[in-house]
Amino acid sequence: MTAIEFVQGDITRQSVDAIVNAANSSLLGGGGVDGAIHRRGGPEILAECRKLRASHYGKGLRTGQAVATTAGKLDARWVIHTVGPVFSRSEDRSELLASCYRESLRVADELGARTVAFPAVSAGIYGWPMDDAARIAVGTVRDTETAVTEARFVLFDERAYEAFAAQAR
Ligand code: ADP
Repeated sequence: MTAIEFVQGDITRQSVDAIVNAANSSLLGGGGVDGAIHRRGGPEILAECRKLRASHYGKGLRTGQAVATTAGKLDARWVIHTVGPVFSRSEDRSELLASCYRESLRVADELGARTVAFPAVSAGIYGWPMDDAARIAVGTVRDTETAVTEARFVLFDERAYEAFAAQAR
């Protein structure tokens, strides 16, 4: 059984086994939560991302996939980078967003991570409406079989927190 928790705060301040990053496919850093993770985690994370690009991920990480690096100076052992879909009104990309959470949990299981912090993937620069992002995120984590014992959603502002907490039951 995975306990699902909701907290309002900064994901880079969490003490957990793994912190999930809403990365972009380049893996080379960006704005939002990605920028915050690299800033606080230090250059070690980016160095590992560059190695991934030079080896298995020459074309970058595909949308809906996830890959881990160590966590540099963060209070975590790993960062799991996942690439959310850009929101589209003309195309339903929900399955790709769900895949981000499933793949992140799969990578967490491979690593042996038991506590995992998630941001609201795709709900910032990528424009996904917060309520729908919350429904997909929480529903997917709830329905995924995993050895992770705590999935902690870390929401940056009150509105995001309210949207996610409303999914609790
Ligand atoms: P995406 O490009 O996938 O939309 P963003 O990083 O732009 O990713 O936004 C995802 C969510 O993460 C947004 O709700 C944003 O407010 C939030 N966010 C930004 N910085 C942090 C942080 N330090 N901790 C937790 N959440 C954050």
